[in-house]
Amino acid sequence: MTHYAGGCSHIHTHVDHEPVDNHTCHCSVCKGVTGQDTTHVVFFRHGDVVVDNEAGLKRQPFNAKNPDGPLELCTCGECGAPIMLDDKQRRIRVIVPNLMGYGDQIAPAPYHAFYDPASGVPRPNDGRPVYEGLRPDFTWPEPV
Ligand SMILES: [Zn+2]
Ligand SMILES: [Zn+2]
Repeated sequence: MTHYAGGCSHIHTHVDHEPVDNHTCHCSVCKGVTGQDTTHVVFFRHGDVVVDNEAGLKRQPFNAKNPDGPLELCTCGECGAPIMLDDKQRRIRVIVPNLMGYGDQIAPAPYHAFYDPASGVPRPNDGRPVYEGLRPDFTWPEPV
């Protein structure tokens, strides 16, 4: 049975379903927020990510330059650990496994997303597909 679990010692999250998308993100927002050159980003259907202490979350815009954007970075109000990204439109919840307590439970990303040739970063050549956005066949789940 599928079971992934993470969070911090104050707020626990778990998912008993497979992700709807799984990518290595090259976007500047992830770079700024995580401090990593690339970020392993996993999308789940909104209703599939269960949070045991939603009231304990502190919410802030994921993209500080676009505070009205749909994604909120949810951190633990107690210790500040990043817990998830929450979509105000209730389509997805996003887990960054290495920063949100999931370690290597979730399979590695099968492709590169939001690669920008203008960034000057060499194009990845590890054999996985490289896209300048999400994979072309990705469709957003219906809001819940
Ligand atoms: Zn990103
Ligand atoms: Zn905490």
